[in-house]
Amino acid sequence: MNRPIRVLVAKPGLDGHDRGALIVAQGLRDAGMEVVYTGLRQTVEQIVHAAIQEDVDCIGLSSLSGAHMALFPAVVNELKKQGVHDILVIGGGVIPPDDVRQLKSLGIAEVFTPGSTITDMAQFIRLHVKEKKWTGDFEPPTKVDHIGIAVNDMKSAIEFYEGLLGFSIVHDEQIEDQQVHAVFIQVGELHIELLESTSDNGPIARYISTKGPGIHHIAYRVTDIEDWLIRARQAEYRLIDEAPRNGGQHKRIAFLHPKGTQGVLTEFCEVIQSDS
Ligand code: ZN
Repeated sequence: MNRPIRVLVAKPGLDGHDRGALIVAQGLRDAGMEVVYTGLRQTVEQIVHAAIQEDVDCIGLSSLSGAHMALFPAVVNELKKQGVHDILVIGGGVIPPDDVRQLKSLGIAEVFTPGSTITDMAQFIRLHVKEKKWTGDFEPPTKVDHIGIAVNDMKSAIEFYEGLLGFSIVHDEQIEDQQVHAVFIQVGELHIELLESTSDNGPIARYISTKGPGIHHIAYRVTDIEDWLIRARQAEYRLIDEAPRNGGQHKRIAFLHPKGTQGVLTEFCEVIQSDS
C-alpha cells in the first residue's frame, strides 16, 4: 500500500461536543494518515456515504452520548448493506467494558476508551487496515539478521568474539526499557547481538536464571514486518508483540513466542528506510 492510510472521523448522533474527535483527527494526521472529519450530528447513512466517497480505509466513530450501542453497529450494518467489506470500523468514547465486548462481537474492530493513546490507535489502524486488504502474498525473510546471545559477563564474551575470533564490534547500546546492554559483532553478513542484563530482574536476567547464558533468539530480516505479524497470527502462532516496536539502529522488531517454534524465540526485524 503506497498511499497514506485514509481515516474518516465521525460523530454520529446528537451530542454536540467534538473536542475529542478533533484531537484524534489531529493525532492521526501527525501519525502520517489522511483524515477526513465529517463534523457533528451525522446520520449513519451520511457517514457511510462519505466514507465510500472519500475512499477511506477506516472509520473512527466517537460517541459521548451513550448511544454507541445503537449507532456503532448501525454503521457496520450500513457498510454491509452497501456491499463494502474492506473498511475497518473502530470506536471511541467513555464506554463500559461490557459494551466494549458486545461492540466487538458486532463488528467494531476495536474500542478505545479514555487512557488509550493515539499512538496505540494509529498502530492498531495501520496493522488492521493492512490485514483487511492483505491478499496472503508474502516475501520470505531475506536472511538471518542476527543471533542474540544472553551473556553473564560482557567482558569475557567480547574477549571471545573480538579477542580470540577477531571479529569487530560495530554497535554498542544501552536499551533502557529492556534493561539490557547490547553489543553487536559483525560476522560477515550477520550480526551477533550480545545481551547483558543491566538489572537483576530484566528479561535477560530472568532468562539466564532459568536457562543459563547461551543462544537467546534468532532474528530474521523481513521486508514488511506487519505482513509477518498478520501471517503468524492468522496461522495461530503466539505473538509476544502484537505490533512492531522500535528496535534501535533504524529497525522495527517483533517477537514470536518460543512455544510453537520448538523453543526458539524468533524475532522479525525490518530496516526502516531513512528519508535522507
Ligand atoms: Zn534481536
